[in-house]
Amino acid sequence: MELGHDTECALGTVVDLVNSAPEVTGEEGLPDLTALQDLVDRQQVSGIGRLTREDLAGARRLRVRLLEIFRARDQATAVGLVNALVADARSTPRLTDHDGWPLHMHYHAPDARLPEHLAADCGMALAFVISAGEQSRLATCAAPDCERVLVDLSRNRSKQYCDSRTCGNRLHVAAYRARRKGA
Ligand SMILES: [Zn+2]
Ligand SMILES: [Zn+2]
Repeated sequence: MELGHDTECALGTVVDLVNSAPEVTGEEGLPDLTALQDLVDRQQVSGIGRLTREDLAGARRLRVRLLEIFRARDQATAVGLVNALVADARSTPRLTDHDGWPLHMHYHAPDARLPEHLAADCGMALAFVISAGEQSRLATCAAPDCERVLVDLSRNRSKQYCDSRTCGNRLHVAAYRARRKGA
């Protein structure tokens, strides 16, 4: 599916943030502000000032809400969750061409702190996917014992595994299954 650059970036941030949750991996992927700053740098989230403890707490709360959208049992549930998420974020849609990108939309308020910034932009990115009838692209990794989420943006819907080193390649997964069978 064709999405704008920033929407694809926002979906990448959604996946990164959700997969940091202990509810997903069993361990805290955002133990401190350094880990949160790493995520912001990795995902090139623009216009974020110095991070605070409140930002960390807010990001942890946000990822649980994002995870619920991936685990929504049907479209109506996902729609309700996305609408609530976007409604809670103070969003200010506007056109921008920062950092050399062609004109595109931003949804977060210009002075928004990180959690609100991400709630607006990630919420809208998920809204685009769902309104395009593509909710099934919001998926959970097919590897055994892996609960990480992924967004399948491939043309032929071929992405089944998350980007972690263990699941990323099918051969590894096949070998894992074979080992389990043998055990
Ligand atoms: Zn942008
Ligand atoms: Zn996985």
